[in-house]
Amino acid sequence: MSERTPADGDTESAMPRREGRYPGNGEWILSSAPGPESWDDWREYDPTAWPRKVERHYQLVPTICFNCESACGLLAYVDKESGEIRRFEGNPVHPGSRGRVCAKGPATINQVDDPERILYPLKRAGARGSGKWERVSWDAALDDIGGRIRTAIAEGRGEEVMYHVGRPGYDGSMDRVMKAWGIDGHNSHTNICSSGARLGYALWHQSDRPSPDHARAKFILLLSAHLEAGHYFNPHAQRIVEGKAGGAKIAVLDPRLSNTASMADFWLPTWPGSEAAVLLAMANVLIDEGLHDREFLRRWVNWEAWLEAAHPEAARRARGKGGSAPGSAGIDEFVAALRETYAEFTPEFAARESGVPAATIVEVAREIGRARGALATHVWRGAASGNLGGWQVARCLEWLVVLTGSVATPGGTTPAAHDKFVARMPLTPPPGERWNELTFPREYPLSHHELSFLLPHFLKQGRGRVEVYFTRVYNPVWTNPDGLSWIEALRDPDKVGCHVALTPTWNESAYWADYVLPTGLGPERHDLMSQETSAGAWIGFRQPVLRAFRAAAGEAVGDSRDANPGEVWEEDEFWIDLSWRIDPDGSMGIRRWFESPYRPGEKLTVDDYYGWIFENSVPGLPEAAAAEGLSPLQYMRRYGAFRVTADDYRFYERPAAPEAKGIDIDGSRLAGFETPSRKLEFFSPTMGEFGWPEHAIPGYIRSQVHWSELDRAAGEALLLPTFRLPTLIHTRSANAKWLVEISHRNPLWVHPTDARRIGIGNDDLVRVNTAIGWFVVRAWVTEGLRPGIVACSHHMGRWRLGSDPGVGGWMAAPVSLVEEGREGGSLWRIRHQREVVPFASDDPDSSRVWWSDAGVHQNLAFPVQPDPVSGMHCWHQKVRLEPAREGDRYGDVVVDTAKSHAIYREWLARTRPAKPGGLRRPLWFSRPVRPADSAYRLEP
Ligand code: SF4
Repeated sequence: MSERTPADGDTESAMPRREGRYPGNGEWILSSAPGPESWDDWREYDPTAWPRKVERHYQLVPTICFNCESACGLLAYVDKESGEIRRFEGNPVHPGSRGRVCAKGPATINQVDDPERILYPLKRAGARGSGKWERVSWDAALDDIGGRIRTAIAEGRGEEVMYHVGRPGYDGSMDRVMKAWGIDGHNSHTNICSSGARLGYALWHQSDRPSPDHARAKFILLLSAHLEAGHYFNPHAQRIVEGKAGGAKIAVLDPRLSNTASMADFWLPTWPGSEAAVLLAMANVLIDEGLHDREFLRRWVNWEAWLEAAHPEAARRARGKGGSAPGSAGIDEFVAALRETYAEFTPEFAARESGVPAATIVEVAREIGRARGALATHVWRGAASGNLGGWQVARCLEWLVVLTGSVATPGGTTPAAHDKFVARMPLTPPPGERWNELTFPREYPLSHHELSFLLPHFLKQGRGRVEVYFTRVYNPVWTNPDGLSWIEALRDPDKVGCHVALTPTWNESAYWADYVLPTGLGPERHDLMSQETSAGAWIGFRQPVLRAFRAAAGEAVGDSRDANPGEVWEEDEFWIDLSWRIDPDGSMGIRRWFESPYRPGEKLTVDDYYGWIFENSVPGLPEAAAAEGLSPLQYMRRYGAFRVTADDYRFYERPAAPEAKGIDIDGSRLAGFETPSRKLEFFSPTMGEFGWPEHAIPGYIRSQVHWSELDRAAGEALLLPTFRLPTLIHTRSANAKWLVEISHRNPLWVHPTDARRIGIGNDDLVRVNTAIGWFVVRAWVTEGLRPGIVACSHHMGRWRLGSDPGVGGWMAAPVSLVEEGREGGSLWRIRHQREVVPFASDDPDSSRVWWSDAGVHQNLAFPVQPDPVSGMHCWHQKVRLEPAREGDRYGDVVVDTAKSHAIYREWLARTRPAKPGGLRRPLWFSRPVRPADSAYRLEP
């Protein structure tokens, strides 16, 4: 540090220039970000010393943001004098984020410095849920947990070990752990998040999400507030802005006037669940007006299979005209059959279903047609996650992409797997032979992910037990619907033997754990990440910042605990250590997967693991590293990211690799798609084979909250509870004071016409009655959503039990939780004891808390509503609104878990289970931690 005063005549030229050379990222220069050549000694004045000019020196260490799944690049500014991280900004050489971040990226420093974070391993010291904890050593915790797992595996009860993940933040590393342990124990949050959309996409081409090329698009069609919803927010938003600057028009289907909708050329405030009807009407306009890509359909859609199955006469005529041969008119029979099949989906029909004028639907369809080949689309959560049949919304959206020949084109939409790089890992265990019916029950053979949110009901039914249950950056009590049923399960040792909460911050579920183990925040751990942010693929390398800083300075650093705060440990090292304790002598065949590939018999290190991947698995990286005189691992520690491919379009048209499956198209053997037909499956025989033949093609399923189901005169409305705020991070927001200061309320959006009818005004308390209880919230009367719908963001409503350890004081209200037992469940009442108030801590800002609102925890009052096909929780609720009653208080939640179990059974009865002797699931459907094919077979 050096200090000058303004009188010294110091000038800005003394500082390094904020521009530079960005290897591997020639497409973009963000001139306000420091280039890598200045990262080793970045100098700037200390703003807190103003008006004195105090120069500080920083080491800038690249890492990856953990605050959503976009995996943007961050630069940590480490003060070289104190060795502390001062702040985070964007990494300009990261190909996905290109130096930019959203508010949540820089707020990482709040999480690191949070005075209430968990720094030491804790063990329950009283009854489960008593709030009593004692410090425990990592060794003692690991010996106990490892011993339980060893016994369960040795006794053939491996499925009683379950790893349940919220925000993964890694690519594939836990698959390796589960396979090495030989268990089918992976569980995820995906069926409360995105499974609906994933199934809709996967049925087309196996890839379960889209990668829109927004920057080159001519028309951008977005369903729901995807952008501001936070998922891929920053990488996609910046490219949408580029597309718009290049002349692209934007349409948003969303009942709420979201930030995205407010910037669009067209806002279509569709009734939730009617989106598929609108999209099919648009498809009809494209076909009727000849705006479809006839040649693309001929070559790449499995239309002949559909005609054979559903229109045999048309199939015969098509064959007579030359079938799918080049230049033949066979394809016209397909188009004619489409017209006949979808005749009811007129713009007028769609207008009745959605409330959007028919003329608007036609106008947007024509714009889509004019963008032919450059239609970028996306749906994530929103329509696909709120409604019965939401998966068909994604299927219909992709139908527009296919119809216009926009599949993996410049400005089009690519199956995401082609814009994501999946690295090969060292020491890959073989797939397991087991199948866990607590995660993939036979009722849901087409569920895209685990039926995670039904676990308490499965346990209640006696379908199984969990001996060791890891929740990992996951808070089911707060995040999932029906959280009080989760409490009933988690507190019961007969259902859950040992609950281990792996979390850097307190959450409502950790309260019911046996161990709370502090794992690293984003800048305290290693991970490999790749996401589909544009046309091409990259990898990003998350690294523990202070460990990298000290190692670069020549210090000998052991594991990440040596550099992280307290005894915070990164997970890679945790799982390696735990695996050695499960199998200390190697006799179980587990330990060998956690030994160094370079030093046989020695424990695997993170340098071994990532070094091997970078040396052996990433095309072009060893060469790029060698050009700079670095090893591949050194290169990734230096830059934090590497671009693997760029501008990668029309992969399916490439010649098939000699060893790969392919498809003959017009006399050439081409790569095609990863479906059974190797084509885009407009017609899915799989749907018929697994019991849903009526949904074999894109279609419209009326939602559980269709407008005809509501009696608005009686105060009924549709509650849209899914929308996110761009400033919050699910459960980890509570430890980010800047974000909480910006966003800490979740009022109920109510249209003025509904407010008048119900008799409520702005800021009035409203009782929102659901099928299993009610909650009390304040109204925000606004014209920013369509009448008949009310909306409440899911972020807020954090709580802690009285003064016990729990969720941080920035955001959580202390509550009382009262239970009244009854047959089949309990009646639970939760009530705020006080508001958020200033509090004493090491951070002086905690005494300056000016806000008092903690929001309302609405999800507790929602029953589970699993879609019978996709398994996705259908979030939207039919509710009845009334002014708060006497005695109601803001934040009250009342829930009857006996009712919630009864509703679970009603939805379960809608399923069509896999048949004994058949398959549990289509073999071509991927799965988290996919077992061997043999495990897919059900015993006769
Ligand atoms: S979009 Fe924001 S929260 Fe998500 S990774 Fe990027 S900076 Fe972090």
